[in-house]
Amino acid sequence: MPAEFKNELVLDFSQEQTRQKQEEALALVQTQLDREYDLIIGADRLKSGKTFKSINPSKKSVTIGHFQSASLEQAVRAVEVAARAFEKWKRVPVQQRAAVLFRAAEILRAKRFENNAWMILEAGKTWVEADADTAEAIDFCEFYGREALRYAEPQPLTRLKGEDNELRYIPLGVGAVIPPWNFPCAILVGMTTAALVCGNTVVLKPSSDTPAIAAFFMDILHEAGMPPGVVNFVTGSGATIGNAIVEHSGIRFVSFTGSKEVGLHIVEEAARPRPGQIWIKRVVAEMGGKDFIIVNEDADFDAALAGAVASAFGFQGQKCSACSRLIVHEKIYPAFVEKLAEKVKDLKVGPAMDPSSYMGPVINENARKSILQYIETGRKEGRLVAGGEPAEGDGFYIKPTVIVDLDPSARIAREEIFGPVLAVLKAKDLDDAIRIANDSEYGLTGSVYCKDRDLIRRAKEECHVGNLYINRKCTGALVGVHPFGGFNMSGTDSKAGGRDYLLLFTQAKAISEKL
Ligand code: NAD
Repeated sequence: MPAEFKNELVLDFSQEQTRQKQEEALALVQTQLDREYDLIIGADRLKSGKTFKSINPSKKSVTIGHFQSASLEQAVRAVEVAARAFEKWKRVPVQQRAAVLFRAAEILRAKRFENNAWMILEAGKTWVEADADTAEAIDFCEFYGREALRYAEPQPLTRLKGEDNELRYIPLGVGAVIPPWNFPCAILVGMTTAALVCGNTVVLKPSSDTPAIAAFFMDILHEAGMPPGVVNFVTGSGATIGNAIVEHSGIRFVSFTGSKEVGLHIVEEAARPRPGQIWIKRVVAEMGGKDFIIVNEDADFDAALAGAVASAFGFQGQKCSACSRLIVHEKIYPAFVEKLAEKVKDLKVGPAMDPSSYMGPVINENARKSILQYIETGRKEGRLVAGGEPAEGDGFYIKPTVIVDLDPSARIAREEIFGPVLAVLKAKDLDDAIRIANDSEYGLTGSVYCKDRDLIRRAKEECHVGNLYINRKCTGALVGVHPFGGFNMSGTDSKAGGRDYLLLFTQAKAISEKL
């Protein structure tokens, strides 16, 4: 049995040596840009005749790489190859499957700065955010490896005289793994490794904004000893290729993380059986959020301010857990709003490659346009006190934006914007704040800053979110510590990084033998 799971520590970039290593890795990765990547189906590396490119959102003129737009035939082939590989992989002892994850974690540690560099360049993550993403990916490998071993142990059953009974968790089959771009390493790694360590095989379709980071992890999996066909790498448009994979009768389950719209579409498509299909597809769909921070009148003012700024503007507000609704007690509202605006105006926006940038760019032109449109709507719905416009530079930069005095019915207080825009609302008291917070179709994360024990108890009971935090920020869930997943339209509450997660990738077989 491996040692007890422990979270990977994040790097300290205030150390000269650490900074230098990150600079060197950035320089190294920049020599590897603009390459053409292949599809990986079984042992074959394939072209499709049509490519798309991924770019650096901090510097639009820089191409990260060219990727294949897989054809429909190639997508189908990937499912068929994964189905053949499943027949072998499911029989590989769990210890060997888990060992692949432990080795992948080791390689990620060894290539940590390089992995960070790919995220800094392709996703526009600042150094600190990129490193937290890598640390989480390492955690997923270590945690799910151990979890698979735990599920393989004898399971407790009530004993019956005259029978020998056992329960085994067996894999499901071929899974479609469809991650988003915003945790391009951690979420992709978590979803993929959870599926494969249970004995499933995978067709992985990464986001078209961050395929190079996905390709880097494919290399790590191969180096870690994963046999060909276990994870098949198929790039291309979500709407065509992603859809075709989800629809295929050979797909046994879909593991999706992304927007509400696409998630609901997948749930619907997967529910319809196709000719030849002999199972009900299982769908794990983790989707958007409209996450809140409540600041009560007795809160530690500075801690709440720091928590709100970090939760709203870390990675440009592009976390599913990002605070996008700040609900402040009316007694401290004017002072809190004033300090918040001051603090936010000081945040430095710039290229993610520059370690002094607090915020980098948003992911792409569509996101930039959509966020700026929301800001225009917000200007009419409330009062702009910070930001509200693009920031200078050759990337998709937007100034961190705060809009206050909003009614809970305002669009920018209800819809997921997925950018650096914070909607601020006033509440009469903590009960009113909880009512506003719960009045949402989403239910992913929330924080309550408050000192009164009775009110804290009430908040713990009443706030309807999958991840509730008291007196700390609402982002930064740690594997094993804060199992992560939301209620309502935020998804199926799969609790990634928790002890129930692998059950979603297995089915239980009860075997009874008469003695
Ligand atoms: P998205 O829904 O646009 O895309 C997600 C993935 O789905 C991509 O790989 C995309 O190519 C693919 N896709 C698109 N259309 C498809 C289709 N018709 N069939 C199959 N696949 C298809 O989301 P995004 O912009 O990549 O990510 C941002 C969203 O993800 C936000 O809403 C955010 O809140 C959410 N998110 C949720 C969590 C969570 O744990 N709840 C975590 C991270 C991100």
